[in-house]
Amino acid sequence: ATRTGSRPVEAATHCPYCALQCGMVLRATGDGVEVGARDFPTNRGGLCQKGWTAADLLDHPDRLTTPLLRDRPGGELRPATWDEALDRVAAGVRDVQHRHGPDAVAVFGGGGLTNEKAYALGRFARVTLRTRHIDYNGRWCMSSAAAAGNRAFGIDRGLPFPLADLGRADTLLLVGANPAETMPPLMRHVTDLRERGGRLIVVDPRATATARQADLHLQPLPGTDLAVANALLHIALTEGWLDRAYVAERTTGFDEVRRTVAGYWPAEVERLSGVPVADLYATARALATVDRAVVLTARGAEQHAKGVDTVTAFINLALALGLPGRPGSGYGCLTGQGNGQGGREHGQKADQLPGYRRIDDPAAREHVAGVWGVDPDALPGPGVPAYQLLDALGTPSGARALLVFGSNPVVSAPRATQVESRLRALDLLVVADFVRSETAELADVVLPVAQWAEEDGTMTNLEGRVLRRRALREPPAGVRTELEILAALAGRLTDGGPSLPTDPREVFAELGRASAGGSADYAGITWDRIDADTGVFWPCPDRDGPDTPRLFADRFPTPDGRARFHAVTHRPAAEPVCADYPLHFTTGRVLAQYQSGAQTRRVAALRRAAPGGFVELHPDLAARIGVTDGAPVRVVSRRGELRAPARLSTAIRPDTVFAPFHWPGAQRANSVTNDALDPVSGMPEFKICAVRVEAA
Ligand code: SF4
Repeated sequence: ATRTGSRPVEAATHCPYCALQCGMVLRATGDGVEVGARDFPTNRGGLCQKGWTAADLLDHPDRLTTPLLRDRPGGELRPATWDEALDRVAAGVRDVQHRHGPDAVAVFGGGGLTNEKAYALGRFARVTLRTRHIDYNGRWCMSSAAAAGNRAFGIDRGLPFPLADLGRADTLLLVGANPAETMPPLMRHVTDLRERGGRLIVVDPRATATARQADLHLQPLPGTDLAVANALLHIALTEGWLDRAYVAERTTGFDEVRRTVAGYWPAEVERLSGVPVADLYATARALATVDRAVVLTARGAEQHAKGVDTVTAFINLALALGLPGRPGSGYGCLTGQGNGQGGREHGQKADQLPGYRRIDDPAAREHVAGVWGVDPDALPGPGVPAYQLLDALGTPSGARALLVFGSNPVVSAPRATQVESRLRALDLLVVADFVRSETAELADVVLPVAQWAEEDGTMTNLEGRVLRRRALREPPAGVRTELEILAALAGRLTDGGPSLPTDPREVFAELGRASAGGSADYAGITWDRIDADTGVFWPCPDRDGPDTPRLFADRFPTPDGRARFHAVTHRPAAEPVCADYPLHFTTGRVLAQYQSGAQTRRVAALRRAAPGGFVELHPDLAARIGVTDGAPVRVVSRRGELRAPARLSTAIRPDTVFAPFHWPGAQRANSVTNDALDPVSGMPEFKICAVRVEAA
């Protein structure tokens, strides 16, 4: 930050929204804060609409500057002092734990929290609350890719190479990813590829803004990506396009995969998915017969009850072609939330401790307990994934109190109507946020927190690059940081037990010690080191040693150094279409809104650009059901319904309807979605369920 006297007038920081973490400059002006773009390796001087308008929330009239309390069920939230609010939380937690035990209090975190907050939240849950119930909304983001990456490579880093590698590839295959809308500056790297003569191939049931730029667009039926991947590998196998030396020297388990994909005849996969055989061959050829190729998956492939296996099928393809570990080549996942990567490394996940360690590993427990100054036997065991945690709330087997930090599950959870009723059944709901989100509206206590321009900390972007968030100004009076809130609660709840630091630099240093020796090793990273360069890539175990921009060059971090193939087979969606619900429903995002919309729906320019929800459907389908463009429609599933204007488009298959999930109330797409879970990752099946559509 550049300073005049003691106050910064300019701060070089990063956008508060998605995982691209575009570089930006904040400047204090006479009457507010101005955003400027900053050249950084990910965004190269570009920002999207969301980034340009991010400062509009800093002094927004909806901004909370005092805690809120609800005195009785059904009563109104009223302003309160911090002591009143924190005492109420502490008393509520004590009461619930006294009556029902430590696990009766749960914590729900977010993938937008800084590394320091994510770490502190995990420690607060395990040490202060002694509960096993902590998980976060990132479970609904990239947990399938995380599980598949761990299974195949022995590590989970979204991109195991710098983003600039995309520009060096000859072919880029994007599966279920729409960066032209979700992270537009990323397309600068795709432009590099295309200017060099490289090809972009997109797999998506919709002709999205990204698919429309592609050299080839495969438009499969939702839920058939896995079969498409196996067919591509089948073709590579039969055409002799495998990298046999790579498979022999750097991998294990290929024989079973070979046997499995042998049954994925392209003609049969065309019948199943709708992707023409010629396009399958063209894609396999484009990946296998070039020097450098990259395969990337995102939510479209991952948010399924078979999400882990779907990602695994694309990893199998990449391994068979010898891509991972070669510059300009490889497999990666496009992480979504701002700190979706760091948020999953420091202990917010139900089954993990900092450093991406398993919580049921005795050595990991011993190490982390040593850093925390507690007995390893006193640490709770694994909890349950996010949806299971929420779905059990208020029931005999679930928690009775919930503390939510940086998340809005009333809009973002699958089967959201049921989740909302679970939240209403709690003895105590506490929400820390800077606006009255839809989840905060249900809370007994709302705690107002600082925004990104008012805090120092670190984020880890989609490349595994650890970045500095730098404060431009102090938080407004009446607002506290999450670290201050956790420390204040710990002080009230532990009666002299281990305290929590509130200085983020101090928290980061502790996080580094806790992560030492884990797969996401931050021990060698300091804020000064990040400041001296364009971030630091983990793993970075030594202060004096190098960081790791590119993984897998010589070996994979598995016991034998080899990547592991896993044979995976296609299976139908958890909820097949039928006579009553004859259409496939899928969800996604629009350019001008972000996640549950709690922030971006409040920004006037973004609201003008994307004022409300809609239901995208093909004109042939619309004609069949008697719906015209703009007319109100109902999308009905077995779990609920959504009402929004129809948007007719040939971009979507006639058997599929789409709605973005950013809006609450009647337009809430997640009232409709299915809560079937992936058995490995706990990822809900956001991307496909059976619905009917009718004029409203
Ligand atoms: Fe922010 Fe993502 Fe837009 Fe960049 S692409 S400005 S990080 S929302």
